[in-house]
Amino acid sequence: MTKAKRIDGKAKAEQLAESITEQTAALLREHGITPGLAVVIIGEDPASQVYVRNKKRRAESCGFYSVQHTMAGDASQEDVLKLINELNNDNAIHGILVQLPLPDQLDEQTITQAISPNKDVDGFHFVNIGKLTAGHTADAFVPCTPAGCMLMIEDALGPDLSGKTAVIIGRSNIVGKPMASLLMQRNATVTVTHSRTKDLPKVVRNADIVVAAVGRPDMVKADWIKPGAVVIDVGINRVEKTINGETKLRLTGDVDYEDVCTVASAVTPVPGGVGPMTITMLMFNTLRSARLFAGLPG
Ligand code: NDP
Repeated sequence: MTKAKRIDGKAKAEQLAESITEQTAALLREHGITPGLAVVIIGEDPASQVYVRNKKRRAESCGFYSVQHTMAGDASQEDVLKLINELNNDNAIHGILVQLPLPDQLDEQTITQAISPNKDVDGFHFVNIGKLTAGHTADAFVPCTPAGCMLMIEDALGPDLSGKTAVIIGRSNIVGKPMASLLMQRNATVTVTHSRTKDLPKVVRNADIVVAAVGRPDMVKADWIKPGAVVIDVGINRVEKTINGETKLRLTGDVDYEDVCTVASAVTPVPGGVGPMTITMLMFNTLRSARLFAGLPG
C-alpha cells in the first residue's frame, strides 16, 4: 500500500514568509513604506492569545510595523468601534484584524464591517466578499485560510483544476464559502456540503479534492476518500489523546490523518498544515495592502 505525501504547510509558509520579508525590505528601500499590521484582541480567550502572539511574531519577523491593542473582556461596542475608526485613519497601518471570537456583548458583524475594506486583511468585509465572489480579486483581500489552502492544492495539482471535482465540508463565511469561490475560479467543479447533507461519505467519495472545515475531530475516514484524492484538513480541534501512556490535550484535525493517508495521494497534517499557511497569508495580504496604498500593483 502506498502512503500519501504529507503536504508540509509549515515549510511552505516559511518559504513564503522569506519572500514576503524580501519584498518588505524592497518596499521600504524603494518607496519608504513599512507594512503596518494592527491586531485587536478583546478578552482573555487562551486560544486567541496564542493566535495573536503568533501573528505578531510573524509580522515582526517579516519586518512589519506591528501593533497589538488589548481590550478588556467587558469592552463596549462603542469603544471597539472608536479604536477601529482610529486605525482606519492611521496611515502607518495597512492591515487591521480583530481576533475572533468576540465576547457576547459585541456584535461581530458590526465590528468586522466597520474595518475599512482597504485594510480588511482578513477578507471578511462584504466589499471583499463580493469582489471574491464576482471574481474581481485584483484589489480584493481573500480570506487567509482558503487562500493558503489554494496554494497547497496548487502545489499538489497545478494551477488549473479543469475536470477536477472538489468537495468542501463546511459552509462558513470564513472558510467554506470563499474556498468554493477560489476553486471555481480555477475551473474545479465544486460541491459545498454541511450538517444537512445526506450521505456525506458518498458525496465526498466523488472528490479529487477534499477540503474539510467542520470542527469535528477525525471525522473524515479512509473509506470516504477516492483513491488518489488530495485532502486539505482545515479543522483545529483540541482533544485528549493518550500517547505512550501519557494523556494530554492535543491538536487534531477533522481528518483521520493516518487512516486517510492509506488512500489519498496527498494530505495536510494538523498541526503543521493549514494553520501556519493561514498566518503567512495574513502577512501576504498586509504587504499587498501596503503596496496598493503606495499605488503599486498588489
Ligand atoms: P463553523 O463552525 O463556522 O462551520 C462549521 C461547518 O461545518 C458548518 O457549515 C456546519 O454545517 C458544518 N458541519 C458541522 N457538523 C457537520 C457534520 N456532521 N457533517 C457535515 N458538516 C458539518 O466553523 P469554521 O469554518 O469557522 O471552522 C471549521 C474548523 O476549521 C474549526 O475546527 C476551526 O477551528 C478550524 N479553522 C482553522 C483555521 C486554520 O487556520 N487552520 C482557520 C479557521 C477555522 P451547518 O452550516 O449546517 O451548521
